[in-house]
Amino acid sequence: MTLFCAAACFAQTQESATAPAQSPAAASTPNLRMALAASVAMAQLEPKSGSDVSGLVAFRQVGDEVLVTGMIKNLKPGKHGLHIHEKGDCSSPDAASAGPHFNPTNQHHGGPTTTEHHAGDLGNVEATSSGIVQLNSKVKLSLSGKDSIIGKSVVVHEGEDDLKTDPAGNSGARVACGEIKPK
Ligand code: ZN
Repeated sequence: MTLFCAAACFAQTQESATAPAQSPAAASTPNLRMALAASVAMAQLEPKSGSDVSGLVAFRQVGDEVLVTGMIKNLKPGKHGLHIHEKGDCSSPDAASAGPHFNPTNQHHGGPTTTEHHAGDLGNVEATSSGIVQLNSKVKLSLSGKDSIIGKSVVVHEGEDDLKTDPAGNSGARVACGEIKPK
């Protein structure tokens, strides 16, 4: 009994620590405003727009930046736009449900190093000839506070992001999408 409670109660404590007064189901409700604080978050990417693209992206707060790591597979070789979108809703077949790029400072589209860009503009990732991307970069994002990316989504695009054209750098269809959830 004690042992059982150790696991179950730990899980419950974790849940209430990250999502006060919300059930797990409520916490994943797309439009719910969440002020969650977490040091680690994950997004499980599911195929969209008829693709086979899948993957797992992890976010870890390191000072005022977020370390983005993970792997994406079954992409076409070459560059693909990678963005954080405003809504944590990947339910539609083309991932249009994820909404536009996460843009809390109301700027134009760009790349991570351009003067003006959406906070969610992570630029391009480049898939190998085997269609694989290994992620490992730091970006100016947060896992807590009003501009937290928790409850948003990660979207991988079919084509290359030109890092300048509004609203999404002409990067084409959304081929994978995953909601960013606290871990
Ligand atoms: Zn953008």
